[in-house]
Amino acid sequence: MQITVSAIKADIGGIGGHTRPSDELLETVRNFVAKNSKGLLIDHYIGYTGDDIHIIMTHTRGVDDEKIHKLAWDAFTEGTKTAKEQGLYGAGQDLLKDSFSGNVKGMGPGVAEIEMEERPSEVFCIFAADKTEPGAFNFPLWRMFVDARSNSGLLINERLAEGVVFRIMDVMTGKVAELKMWQDKAELEAALMYPGRYVVHSVVSADGTDQIVSASTDRLHNIAGTYVGKDDPIAIVRTQKNFPATEEAGSAFNDPHYVAGNTRGSHHMPLMPVKLNSAASLNYSIPIVSCLLFSMHNGKLTGPHDGFGTADWDLQRMWAAERAMIMRNQGFIHPATLVPDELEYNKGYEARMSKLESKFRNLEDIMNGKTKKAATKAKEAGSKR
Ligand SMILES: [Mg+2]
Repeated sequence: MQITVSAIKADIGGIGGHTRPSDELLETVRNFVAKNSKGLLIDHYIGYTGDDIHIIMTHTRGVDDEKIHKLAWDAFTEGTKTAKEQGLYGAGQDLLKDSFSGNVKGMGPGVAEIEMEERPSEVFCIFAADKTEPGAFNFPLWRMFVDARSNSGLLINERLAEGVVFRIMDVMTGKVAELKMWQDKAELEAALMYPGRYVVHSVVSADGTDQIVSASTDRLHNIAGTYVGKDDPIAIVRTQKNFPATEEAGSAFNDPHYVAGNTRGSHHMPLMPVKLNSAASLNYSIPIVSCLLFSMHNGKLTGPHDGFGTADWDLQRMWAAERAMIMRNQGFIHPATLVPDELEYNKGYEARMSKLESKFRNLEDIMNGKTKKAATKAKEAGSKR
């Protein structure tokens, strides 16, 4: 049976800042989808990671379907009304257009979608992140599909050993490169090196028959022309059988790596695995990722099981908190902060820099100016004597 899984997410308001949606806001979105999904969806689930609400939907309408995207858009629009009534911070901030026009891509919300021939025991993880950018998934996806040290399934599983095809998007141009493992490994790694520019868009099997990964790749500041919010990513990763084992996918997040994001979207901090429906931390908004694990049969969902909910993940949370403090102790000095192009509230940064620019002069002129002043002072002092 051909089933499509669509994961669409947006930040439409948080309590007291960029923390988490209110219960009433979630309720509004849940009610709207429940009421309007008849005849459209087979099943759905709605939850949140930090200030981002995700709507997970199963259906038979394929990817980029207008009605599915419109349902999510309308649910977020309805939710925005509640967010505004409650005075939530950033109410409707990810809805960048006034009206829906066929597809939510490019309109603010993040989208990951896979159309698949459902396996008898279909299994997939949804990784939903907050306070970071789509490139945050570069390193874990590399660990899942390229790094045998992280995933011995790449050696043991016949299909994985054949190598997969990575589709990498240049987020500045929107163009996509197909890179086949293992011959294009060096080029893949060269691209993944710079997560602010090159982002994993999807991963497909070597023969192109199965899509294994879909990740959201929108960068909000490229859509709106100016920074309006962090483009927090969401990804679907199918697991088991010929794909990575569920624990091979989950453990790719067990060494919290530094990603761009957190407070004002302007710093580097580690990506902390968190439990389902966790709020963003007030400790400078450490980037977070949650793992929703589903089983699916005929499009009906069982789950989510909380992939990062078991006790052992407390160790990774501790590591992430420690690594966050190590970076935060460096304050505003790069690499704690992003490079200027990536500084998101960069209007303020630009203002600082243009003031600074106006003060730059040739060293000679400064020295001559000083010498002149010193000479005048000495002359004045001499005439007073
Ligand atoms: Mg967010």
